[in-house]
Amino acid sequence: MNINFINLQGQYQKYKQEIDKEIHEVLDTSVYIGGNKVTKLEENLANFSGSKHAIACSSGTDALLLALMALDIKSGDEVITTPFTFIATAEMIAFVGAKPVFVDIDEKTYNIDASKIEEKITSNTKAIMPVSLFGQVANMDEINRIAKKHNLKVIEDAAQSFGAEYKNKKSCNLSDIATTSFFPAKPLGCYGDGGAIFTNDDEIASKIRIFLNHGQSKRYIHSHIGINGRLDSIQAGVLNAKLKYYNEEIEKRQSIANRYNNSLKNIITPFVEKNHLSVWAQYCIRVKDREAMLEKCAKKNIPTGVYYPVPLHLQEVFKYLNYKEGDFPVTEKVSKDIMALPMSAFLTEEEQDYIIKAINE
Ligand SMILES: *Cc1c(COP(=O)(O)O)cnc(C)c1O
Repeated sequence: MNINFINLQGQYQKYKQEIDKEIHEVLDTSVYIGGNKVTKLEENLANFSGSKHAIACSSGTDALLLALMALDIKSGDEVITTPFTFIATAEMIAFVGAKPVFVDIDEKTYNIDASKIEEKITSNTKAIMPVSLFGQVANMDEINRIAKKHNLKVIEDAAQSFGAEYKNKKSCNLSDIATTSFFPAKPLGCYGDGGAIFTNDDEIASKIRIFLNHGQSKRYIHSHIGINGRLDSIQAGVLNAKLKYYNEEIEKRQSIANRYNNSLKNIITPFVEKNHLSVWAQYCIRVKDREAMLEKCAKKNIPTGVYYPVPLHLQEVFKYLNYKEGDFPVTEKVSKDIMALPMSAFLTEEEQDYIIKAINE
């Protein structure tokens, strides 16, 4: 058995004709940056998410950076976020000079524990940046309520949750700004780096468009310090081709997750809240002896991953924030026993049975 953690090749083979056509159209017209593939993608993303504006950009990390820039978050400001996420979330807060302020997670969903946010708000707090981790949207109603009460902005880091649903609304359309990533391994991936920013606010949208193109308001007229944060046309083409099948893939991911949930024994399986639909960016289980389980899986040729072994408040880079072991007990506990199993719309039943049997043994 040769199982892929994420079966990108199986996916490519299925959509090959359409993906190749998109790529060749870019090669045949030589419009490599911008152009109608990117415009089309932005329309498609806005339609899919329900958000008024979708702005394609160079990565999920740059999407976070651009969102923070659009809100003018800078040195002296604080942004509340979770310590149980990929580095980029807190990294970009620090990168603009602001201070990441961590709040522990909920032990069931692994998302930020909204009930602990208010006690961390100070006069310097400018925004809350929840992460919709592993494909499940964070507790956005409560987070938006707190933000409104304290006059803060909310940025959903939806790098792992594009397509997820929350009370009949879609991830990326639940806050002032949302960002996602099209890194190949994300639920909707391109064939390189890519990302997008979503907002219903016209002013924020136009700021972001200026920032992502060198602060250029008109050709070679620069009003702001910006970056090169553009998405290239080949990636847009790949995404346009794949997006047509994305709903189908989400359904498949759900049935694969259901199968895991119903068959795995003696471990903690993922918990999804009522009225949520996860896109299963990761299928994470929690086990008593993780090292032993990882080793057993490796012996049986089952690829696994650990998201995330070192919480952000204990990362060397954030030493200056003066957090210490014990500050976020739930995050620390989960980071010690969590591990991810193979998950993609192209995981076969046979492969899945093999994985389930191995884990249950
Ligand atoms: C992947 C990821 C990012 C960064 O996206 P890139 O496209 O790799 O830059 C940011 N936040 C979270 C939660 C992620 O999982």
